Amino acid sequence: MTYAIAPHANACVPVAGTDMRFPVHRIYCIGRNYADHAHEMGSVVDRKNPIFFAKPADAIVTSNGDVPYPPMTNELHHEVEMIVALATGGRDIAVDDALEHVYAYGVGLDLTRRDLQLIAKSKGNPWDTAKGFDCSAPVSDLHRVRDIGHPDCIGLRLSVNGEMRQQTELGNMLFSVAEIIHELSRFYELKSGDLIFTGTPAGVALLNRGDHFHAELAGVATLEGRII
Ligand code: MN
Repeated sequence: MTYAIAPHANACVPVAGTDMRFPVHRIYCIGRNYADHAHEMGSVVDRKNPIFFAKPADAIVTSNGDVPYPPMTNELHHEVEMIVALATGGRDIAVDDALEHVYAYGVGLDLTRRDLQLIAKSKGNPWDTAKGFDCSAPVSDLHRVRDIGHPDCIGLRLSVNGEMRQQTELGNMLFSVAEIIHELSRFYELKSGDLIFTGTPAGVALLNRGDHFHAELAGVATLEGRII
């Protein structure tokens, strides 16, 4: 078998403390997973119906990478989120079994063209151009469960140009990591290599060219980069 055209390389994320890379299969994201962010967006918290969307795997930008300011927006927003990397997948995964599928954790930004998202919401249109654009997923190195365990009630924060923008702790998530994996696996067959963005707290705001961002999952992972 030969490819008809040259295939693209798999999107990869470095695994901290190793010379290995984690090959990304898909990127899933949950929306409205912190009540304070749902409220600031004028949305209602719904504990029964999680909102999922996706980004392309090649939207990944690894730590210390420059993030080009995207076209077609005047309102690029940061959303700091814990990310979960799966070693194994499945369908209809039980909450009690869900954490066994996790390989590693990190921190990332769910970059958002907020102006396009607000238009999409008002018209009932899909979110793809607001969420799934090129370089919309800067992520830290991944830290293995075997090294750090499962992060519990630790801090998640983002500063931009040294100024704190978003700050919470993981205990404020409406759907836990295990519950997110369970709910996602009802809609999709999860697979090894899947990355999950677990939602953002309040404080989402503008990013501009030249801004430096520093995201942190306290004591676990850091992500730095620059908008160019
Ligand atoms: Mn988000």
